[in-house]
Amino acid sequence: MPPVAGLRCGSGDLFGVLISHPHKDHVGLVEYAHPSIPIGIGSAARQILDRAAGWLDRPRLEGRPLVHWQSGVVTQFGPFRVTPYLVDHSAYDAYALLIEADGARLFYSGDFRGHGRKRALFDRFVAEPPRKIDVLLMEGTVIGRDGASDSFPNEASLEEAFVERMQRAEGLSLAWT
Ligand SMILES: [Zn+2]
Repeated sequence: MPPVAGLRCGSGDLFGVLISHPHKDHVGLVEYAHPSIPIGIGSAARQILDRAAGWLDRPRLEGRPLVHWQSGVVTQFGPFRVTPYLVDHSAYDAYALLIEADGARLFYSGDFRGHGRKRALFDRFVAEPPRKIDVLLMEGTVIGRDGASDSFPNEASLEEAFVERMQRAEGLSLAWT
């Protein structure tokens, strides 16, 4: 757990925990945050976490004060204005976050990509990025691919391979990802 003042005790001067998307490296420790601290997350992302909690090692957010992101809609956390932007990522319901306070603007990209079903979001974002950013925090999970993983050039071909293998299988299909 990072040593963030008020994170475990909910002292009141920590105004919220902001989650971009439900991948484990972004939410894995959130259940250790004090239950009084508001958590910002997408509505579908939160449902995914709560439904997965009984099966996987994922935190459960039921019963906590939640703010559900709506792309482009500002939410206030104490003195911080937070504007989420829906992005294209392998996790459903993923957001970049623009955080403003005291005249300064921080932009956190979250994880994103430009080749999935929502690539139009990426193209639009490149064409019209937030302006006058003071601090940019950018995530990068896959810079490139090695030759061995290039057998599926896009999402559609991967889906077709899943369908083909599941139709060929007898009985229950299980996927390990
Ligand atoms: Zn991710």
